[in-house]
Amino acid sequence: METLRKAGLRITPQRRAVWSAFEAAGNEHLTADEVFGRARDELPELSRATVYNTLAALVDRGLLRMIESRGAVLYDPNPDPTHHHFRCRRCDRLYDVHVEGVEGLKISGKQDFVVERKSVLLGGLCPECLPAK
Ligand SMILES: [Zn+2]
Ligand SMILES: [Zn+2]
Repeated sequence: METLRKAGLRITPQRRAVWSAFEAAGNEHLTADEVFGRARDELPELSRATVYNTLAALVDRGLLRMIESRGAVLYDPNPDPTHHHFRCRRCDRLYDVHVEGVEGLKISGKQDFVVERKSVLLGGLCPECLPAK
């Protein structure tokens, strides 16, 4: 909850419930539906619309980042702006990773684009899903 306070947000029961959904999940990336399901355990009268509004407010304050994965929007509570993602094709988990060389990425052959952000999604097999040697 400290994070909410630091971001200048008043702590309401709704915000508390939404934020603790992430804390309870070990700061994993969650869909709005997953947040809704978990937040409702804490605050049963919570509506879906409130969850969406709260998520939007948290994104607005930079506490959550929206990322896309397999056509779904996930909310990412990791405040580190330099992290990227790795998705395991077997267990479908999305890992936070640091990627080397991202600073050097540029569009080849086109000069008129201004790149403002770079987000890298790598895919493959995570250590847990590698076949045993
Ligand atoms: Zn895996
Ligand atoms: Zn992440």
